[in-house]
Amino acid sequence: MARILVPILLTGCLAVLSGCGASHGPVSGARAYDHTAQICSLGPRPPGSENLKKAAAYIEAQLAAIDPSLQLKRQPFEKFGERFENLWVEIPGSDPTGPILAIGAHYDSKITHPGEQDFEFVGALDAAASCGVLIELARAIHTQKPIAPNVWLLWFDGEESLEWEWNDEKALMGSTHWVETMHADTALFPEGLSKRLRAFVLLDLLGDVNLKIDRDLESNPKLLEIFKDTASEMGKSGVLYRYESPMKDDHIPFKRKSVRVIDLIDFQYRAPVQHGPNTPEDGKRYTPWWHTADDTLDKVSKDSLDFVGNLVFRALPRIEAEFYR
Ligand SMILES: [Zn+2]
Repeated sequence: MARILVPILLTGCLAVLSGCGASHGPVSGARAYDHTAQICSLGPRPPGSENLKKAAAYIEAQLAAIDPSLQLKRQPFEKFGERFENLWVEIPGSDPTGPILAIGAHYDSKITHPGEQDFEFVGALDAAASCGVLIELARAIHTQKPIAPNVWLLWFDGEESLEWEWNDEKALMGSTHWVETMHADTALFPEGLSKRLRAFVLLDLLGDVNLKIDRDLESNPKLLEIFKDTASEMGKSGVLYRYESPMKDDHIPFKRKSVRVIDLIDFQYRAPVQHGPNTPEDGKRYTPWWHTADDTLDKVSKDSLDFVGNLVFRALPRIEAEFYR
């Protein structure tokens, strides 16, 4: 991910996920964690790398293991002399030509430049863990069919800025390309992307043992409310919206095409202090790891993945009731 513009401290009560280990629903945090570990074990996965191809092959194999009908779609493209490949799978609902709800994450990891960043960037939380949750969501949604609309799960390449400091022109390349291509596809989207693809849920930087989810100011207010209500139903409302941040992330290209979007992201107070805001008194619990050598598998919590996956799963009927009827 992604870049923050202005940090804002909110007041209110703070709750953190406990290590109770109980599942929050049909999405398995243990399975999501195993996927995360497998993706991290590949090492750094910048665009065009052999490791990223292995990650795509892993996602493809895991989907096929759930059901051979879950065939991974691939969208290769080139930009700035680099090769990218977006991935997605379509889980059919009651009408395969009907409306679509999309959930996505980025599967590239940020490239480091020798001599400038002398560490291996594994990107466990940014965003292998979100990719692992997506694979597990595919299993839960395909087997349980919680809603009637088609659900498309997307793994984007090229989210990270190719330059170390964020460059708008050289970031969000996969999501931008996917959205522009689909919006122009009059066979799939005869009335434009948003008439059929009505809502997009983005997962990023999630899975830390001390999880929180920030209130992204680019997100749709109704979707923000739906996720807050769902978290409340799960007894975890304090995990959400302690802090605000307007995020530049893979949801923005969708928003530009009038798709309703939400970015579920745990960013505030993760950036090392020299790059980010001052640490507030209660922000000390939020260990910085963003774009550092510290973004490793040991930071990932099965309980947090369980919560995130089930939060999304349990929000689906509310999103359907709001935007798909
Ligand atoms: Zn990142």
